[in-house]
Amino acid sequence: MSFDSLGLSAGLLRAIGDQGYSEPTPVQRKAIPVILEGKDVLAGAQTGTGKTAGFTLPLLQRLSANTVNKGRRPVRALVLTPTRELAAQVGDSVKTYGRHLPLQSTVIFGGVKINPQIDKLRRGIDILVATPGRLLDHAGQKTVDLSQVEILVLDEADRMLDMGFIHDIRKVLALLPRNGARQNLLFSATFSNEIKQLADRLLNSPELIEVPRCNRTAERIEQVVHPVDKLRKRELLSHLIGSRNWRQVLVFTRTKHGANRLAQQLEKDGLSAAAIHGNKSQGARTRALAGFKNGEVRVLVATDIAARGLDIDQLPHVVNYELPNVPEDYVHRIGRTGRAGSEGEAMSLVCVDEHKLLRDIERLMKREIPKVILEGYAPDPGIRAEPIQNGRNRAATKPAHKHVRRKSSDPQAKPQHRHPRSGQTRGRAAASGSRNAGPRGRNR
Ligand code: AMP
Repeated sequence: MSFDSLGLSAGLLRAIGDQGYSEPTPVQRKAIPVILEGKDVLAGAQTGTGKTAGFTLPLLQRLSANTVNKGRRPVRALVLTPTRELAAQVGDSVKTYGRHLPLQSTVIFGGVKINPQIDKLRRGIDILVATPGRLLDHAGQKTVDLSQVEILVLDEADRMLDMGFIHDIRKVLALLPRNGARQNLLFSATFSNEIKQLADRLLNSPELIEVPRCNRTAERIEQVVHPVDKLRKRELLSHLIGSRNWRQVLVFTRTKHGANRLAQQLEKDGLSAAAIHGNKSQGARTRALAGFKNGEVRVLVATDIAARGLDIDQLPHVVNYELPNVPEDYVHRIGRTGRAGSEGEAMSLVCVDEHKLLRDIERLMKREIPKVILEGYAPDPGIRAEPIQNGRNRAATKPAHKHVRRKSSDPQAKPQHRHPRSGQTRGRAAASGSRNAGPRGRNR
């Protein structure tokens, strides 16, 4: 099937041709005709499926079909995204696909000066891509008028709810024309009860579009688990990058602190590395990403939220330095590689504490991930699982507990875990569960 049969205009087909896309992805095949008809859509599609073009192309076509007002142009399409990076990337897509159309677009997000954004909005914008917080700042200052929005897109809605944006979303909805007078498109990788509630409130008789969770892209990703002790993960990672001569690798940690620490340690190992996470300024994030894309930075260490929506074409290697607490995040993470038809490799360094997380991931993916023990890095069978608390895997880069082994002649020999500060020794029973007890998201 080609793009020609989807009913897109010549200007859009030209832009698609410029990108070298030969055929629409499944989500594009399903979403484009429905959105062109003006229907509301509830789409289950994760990053890497081509979902951005899936909503951007028909949105551009619908807007360009109507005559553009003379004078100051009102905002007619609003795309809300959870993160600045995703907003920037969607904004780039709008510009790329709309390059042959007479439509104006801009991106607004926090962490940068507001005045240049105000200037752009004042000049008149047809399509606005925004994160909710900064959009509400503009609304408060009356520098944006959303009363004429014809199409609303919530992109990665599940992540917006995870990040606590539901109140902001409600406030934004209150600034839009009444429901029924606009088209609503909701894209989400997962369908939690909260997403269903939001969809019920927001969407009018939506068309449900689902693409398989393990889509074609994900199937092209070669996945492997390397069991290893957590205190040896850093050494193994440096060894893999060096010995296999990886030039561009995206590494995931669970926490911002862990990302910083790992990037510093890799630098000490002689590997150019940068960390990207929510505590970094927008400038630092943009610089790190640019350095990674142009090859100056060999290893980009990221947390889940920061990496969400990163569009780095044909990324060859993704490493899960620590498994995510939420299995769906694994799918998002590995979606960074093998994108747009290219082959990719996703590797997870898994220590004994993470076995339960791994089982959850395999259950979600409905398949077992091959385990390969690397020579010289076999896990010590005497080390028992410790709980992962508050999403942190503290010992992954720094020893938090000392393993004190009794002499092997002791038939009851079991490892004891000594807390470094309290000096308290815990037996196996106290240390056996590996459930994550902590809240997610707070530390990312
Ligand atoms: P997305 O899921 O929107 O983040 O898109 C993932 C990647 O797929 C982006 O790098 C797009 O440029 C690329 N892409 C989107 N549509 C197509 C297509 N029809 N054929 C090939 N690549 C595509």
